[in-house]
Formats: sequence, C-alpha cells, structure tokens
Amino acid sequence: MSEIAADHLRRRARWVVRVQALCLLLAVLPGLISFAAPLNPNPVTLWCAQWGWLLFLAGGAGFAMAQLLSRWAFRCLSCRFRFARAGASNIHFLLRPSVIRFCPHCGTTLDASVAR
Ligand SMILES: [Zn+2]
Repeated sequence: MSEIAADHLRRRARWVVRVQALCLLLAVLPGLISFAAPLNPNPVTLWCAQWGWLLFLAGGAGFAMAQLLSRWAFRCLSCRFRFARAGASNIHFLLRPSVIRFCPHCGTTLDASVAR
C-alpha cells in the first residue's frame, strides 16, 4: 500500500490534534464539574474541587508535550528535515489543500507516493 507523503503527514497531524484535544478535555473537565454542580456535594465534585488542579496540570503538560514532540515528528520522508525548522507546525498539514507542497530543504514534492 502506498500513500502520498502529504497524506502521511496529515495522518500524523490528526493524531497530534486528537491527543491535544484529549489533554485539553482532561484539563478542563474537573473545573467544569466543579462549576456545574457546586451545591451538590458528592464524592466526584468534592474530588474535583480538591484535586482537580492535578488533572489541570497533567492536561496542560500533556498538551505542551504533544506540541513539542510534534516539532520532531514532522520530517521530510526523504531527507529527514524537520519542517518545524521552516516554520511549519502540525496545523499546516491539516489544511486542505496543504500549504506545504514540498520540502524546503531538498525540494522533494509531498505529492509523491511513499512506500509503507
Ligand atoms: Zn527533504
């Protein structure tokens, strides 16, 4: 099976966005639960009010870590040049049509098929 390099990078970018969305949900969920049910003290809302900051920090750290790791994950498939060095982030690979059509280092087109 072969796919073009742009689709390969787009699939990676979708994974990064999914992980970041889960981390943001993890970060805001205790706060939402605490604000949604402040007058209904049950173990879940009490735990969220007392220890929700742990999930907030974990979610924020996960979001930042996914963003930092994505800077190394998006590379040219032929010369391994990191696209982040050229100012491209994961969101640039999600756009259709992709705003990045070739590698700025070696000039390889991202429309070429790659063997998997
Ligand atoms: Zn390249």
